[in-house]
Amino acid sequence: MRTIGLLGGMSWESSLSYYQAINQGVKQRLGGLHSAKLVLVSLDFAEIERMQTCGDWDATAELLGNAALQLQAAGAEGFLICTNTMHKVSQQVQAAVSIPLLHIADATAQELVRDNRVKIGLLGTAFTMEQEFYAGRLREQGLHVIVPNEVDRAIVHRVIYEELCLGSIRDASRSAYLSIIDDLVSQGAQAVVLACTEIGLLLQQEHTKVPIYDTTAIHAQAALDFMVGH
Ligand code: GLU
Repeated sequence: MRTIGLLGGMSWESSLSYYQAINQGVKQRLGGLHSAKLVLVSLDFAEIERMQTCGDWDATAELLGNAALQLQAAGAEGFLICTNTMHKVSQQVQAAVSIPLLHIADATAQELVRDNRVKIGLLGTAFTMEQEFYAGRLREQGLHVIVPNEVDRAIVHRVIYEELCLGSIRDASRSAYLSIIDDLVSQGAQAVVLACTEIGLLLQQEHTKVPIYDTTAIHAQAALDFMVGH
């Protein structure tokens, strides 16, 4: 088994999902008492969020690059950035180390293409929904990306930072997300990508008939492929 490195804490609520999914996957794939060989460097999300809000992405890149170096020094053979948003600086973070970064949007695009989903709805932070670094990466794989309107984007963003990253799961927010998803479907979305690693805590496939692609689960599977093979 290869050792995977996790850059976590963004937020820790979703790092927990990664830890669980990767260990469950190792158990499923190898059986018995097997568990994941992994290293975690967990950052203080308040510091990151402050830098995001100020637009100081260079500072976030330096922070994450140093954390990736810690993962490498601790024996990680490949690593994940356990958040979609921080993939905005994935190139700089990858450049800081010699171990490979398993990119969350690439893993997700691969699943979508495999399932023949061409038009997809995208839910995530405002950074992820509005900037090119994420949707552009999906478009490179031939996908057509639809994002919610401005009012709905603000709702999705607010729920992530003010509720989900604080561990607060509310029925009213789930209903709001479901109606936003319905709107994306009415615009032609064949599937919806949960491109924020905490949304899966609020919303699962059982809540809607619309095919849901949870990036946390997909990213964890990519880590497992790297660690133990299919
Ligand atoms: N975990 C979230 C994501 O996947 C949001 C937190 C962050 O800004 O990193 O984008």
